[in-house]
Amino acid sequence: MANKKLIVGNMKMNLTLDEVKSYIEDMVDDKDCVICPSYLYLPYFIEAGYTVGTQSIAKYEDGAYTGEISAHQAKSLGVTYTIIGHSERREYLNEDDSIVRAKINLALSNQLKVILCVGETLEERETSKTKDKIKHQLLEDLDGVTFTNENLIIAYEPIWAIGTGKVPTNEEIDDVVTYIKDIVKDNYQVEPMVLYGGSTNDKNIEQLSTISSVDGFLVGGACLVPEKFIKIIRATK
Ligand code: PEP
Repeated sequence: MANKKLIVGNMKMNLTLDEVKSYIEDMVDDKDCVICPSYLYLPYFIEAGYTVGTQSIAKYEDGAYTGEISAHQAKSLGVTYTIIGHSERREYLNEDDSIVRAKINLALSNQLKVILCVGETLEERETSKTKDKIKHQLLEDLDGVTFTNENLIIAYEPIWAIGTGKVPTNEEIDDVVTYIKDIVKDNYQVEPMVLYGGSTNDKNIEQLSTISSVDGFLVGGACLVPEKFIKIIRATK
């Protein structure tokens, strides 16, 4: 039976080739997920039968952009999804909302499904600016973009929860996820899936899975350990 919730693993810049090969062996048949490995390892996961996504794409169509990979190239390889607007790229690589929007348009025009990440900093949460920040991101990142609930998914990722072991309460997550759904419906007449991301692991997945507004999880650290990731996938079936 297909997973009721979409589980996406963001491997970031981790694992060597040998580790990837062991990982694939250790995951056995748990393929009801999307794996977003380093670009280098995409063919290995595709070959093993996984649905894959990239962690980003270039903001350019094609051509002389050393070190970049285009949406067009990703599609030609058999990639299904791309994460866009992850907070690490927004922060460390200065990807602002106009870049995020350009990437979303390129992804969609190349038939890649977009996982758009939005979320607040700790300071924004503590000063009650969470919803303002998220509304701003959704209105800027999706301005003029034509999308459907088939080709665009949103991931709510509080920045202070990423890789920290801190997780909002179920009520806090539900409040923001519901808000995201309302904003997108009111402004774009689309009802996309909304994932939660931020320190999801094999210990808290049972509890997080009970939030009915959450349509799945974007998992960082815990997806690197097959045993943990398998528990997460199975807990959401
Ligand atoms: C992420 O970076 O998208 C993420 C959710 O990371 P972690 O699960 O490690 O907090």
